[in-house]
Parts: sequence; C-alpha cells; structure tokens
Amino acid sequence: MKTLKIAIQKSGRLNEKSVELLKNCGLNFENYKSSLISPVSNFPLEILFLRDDDIPEYVQDGIADLGIVGENVIQETEVDVAYLQRLGFGRCSLKIAVQNTSNMESISELDGKSIATSYPNILSKYLQQNNVQADIRTISGSVEISPGLGLADAICDLVSTGGTLKSNGLKPFADVMSSEAVLIGRKGSENEDLIQELIARVQSVLRAKETKYVVLNVERKNLEAVVKLLPGVKSPSVVPLAEAEWVAVHTVIPERDFWDRISQLKQAGAQGIVVMPIEKIIL
Ligand code: ATP
Ligand code: ZN
Repeated sequence: MKTLKIAIQKSGRLNEKSVELLKNCGLNFENYKSSLISPVSNFPLEILFLRDDDIPEYVQDGIADLGIVGENVIQETEVDVAYLQRLGFGRCSLKIAVQNTSNMESISELDGKSIATSYPNILSKYLQQNNVQADIRTISGSVEISPGLGLADAICDLVSTGGTLKSNGLKPFADVMSSEAVLIGRKGSENEDLIQELIARVQSVLRAKETKYVVLNVERKNLEAVVKLLPGVKSPSVVPLAEAEWVAVHTVIPERDFWDRISQLKQAGAQGIVVMPIEKIIL
C-alpha cells in the first residue's frame, strides 16, 4: 500500500497543535525534535517536519500529499492546493499598523508611504484592490520595529492579541486578512481513499471539540420542558432512575452556547448536571 506524507511545522506556533491533532486522530508516532521525518506505526502515513514557509510548495509539488499550515502562508506563496479542512487553531490576522502618534484615518492616506512586511504578495494585492500605491519593503523578521527605526511609515504583520504592536508603540490601522491553520492537499492525488479516511478522522476530532457530553437528572414532570431546550444530534437518551419520579437525560451540547443552555436547563428543573469532554464524534 502507498504511504501518505503529511507536512507539519517543525517548531513554532503551529507545531504543538498540529501534533496534538494528529495524535487525537489515533495516529501513533514519535515526536523527536531532531527528526525530520517520523513514520506512523498504525496508519500508512509519514510525518514530515518542515519550516512552515516550505509546506505549501511541498504539497503542491507532491513531495507531501497533505500539509497543515496557516492560510496566510498559503496565500503568500500563491500555490495551487486544495483546502481540505479549516482546523480552528493558529488564529491570527494580518494587519496594517501605524505608529500610535499617527493621525492617519483612511487607507488612501497610505499612498506614497512605505510599509514593511514579510507578506509582500498579499499586501500588494490588498493595496491594489484599494487603489493605494505604497512602497512595500520586504523584510523577513522583526517587522514591528521598523517604524521606530525610521525604516518604514507602517507595517503589515500578523497579530493575535495585539501585545507586540502595543509594546512597539504601534496601533492597528487596517485588516488585510484573517487566518487560521488549515489542512491542505495536493490537487489530483491518487491516494484519495486514504486521504478521505484521514479527513474523516480529523473532522470527528474537531466535531468532538466543539461539543460537550451532558448528563442531568430531572423529575418526569419537568422532562418535556428540559428536552425542549436540548438541541442534540438526535433526541436525547432518557434513562429511568431508581427513584421512579426521576430520569437521567444524556445529550450533547455545542460548546458555544454552553453556559446559556446550562442556566436555562437549571431553571427548567435540571439537577446534578455533569459535563464531560468528548473524544470523537463519528457520524
Ligand atoms: P518557521 O520557522 O516554521 O518558518 P515562523 O517563525 O515563520 O516559523 P511562527 O511564528 O511559528 O512562524 O508562526 C506560524 C504560523 O502561526 C503563522 O504563519 C500564522 O499562521 C500563525 N500565527 C498565529 N498567531 C500568530 C501571531 N501572533 N504571530 C505570528 N503568527 C501567528
Ligand atoms: Zn515561517
């Protein structure tokens, strides 16, 4: 059988979450910092540990069948790959930022200014779309110090909390793109079956992350009101308890409206609510 290859970041912001996702998919492999390639013992797959910048091209050129990388890197490298699944981690946005003291108000005021960035391709498209002609200064790291050093009037860089901007006397000015880690694949791969199997596993892990397993007790007379509040994949399971008037209800609840639901359930008569993480949901 053919062995698939998946490229993930060797070290950096996406490494840990990528490894965790693959392990949660039930894949067994060693994660030595020194190795560049690690075989999976229970699935025909090898893991390649690379710099994130190289991942899109490796996938496009078929050296790896799959990859996990930030959308920002895919867009910047302008490769032709298939987006298979958004992964919900590595969230950040690419923003233009200016010095705190700047009184610039609209993007058009960037006309004729210089902008330092490690994302010249994305930035140049963005400026074109906004009819702005600015001088793009491509630098590979520590972009945020360039306005302070007088190297550029503005920067275009990745931001998550904004802390780095703040500590360099900068403020966000315009959103260029938002990004998260995605699973990408080579277009027209001949290993479709294995790839589909892996995507299904990834999706079951993601679905499980978004939901909680909830067990609660309720008096039969309040059961209908409680059940009405439960979304559930299908109707909830209702299990009789030793005390004849009481039942236990088992269901899954989406994480996002978790606290709202819990307080509504309590008001409707739910008691002894137990909430548990779910490992996988296979539909
Ligand atoms: P490499 O050594 O692999 O080239 P890198 O230094 O280019 O690593 P990291 O800083 O580890 O990259 O970031 C990897 C990815 O994490 C980014 O491309 C982006 O998609 C995502 N990310 C999430 N939050 C941030 C952030 N605050 N700053 C930078 N990247 C972020
Ligand atoms: Zn990089």
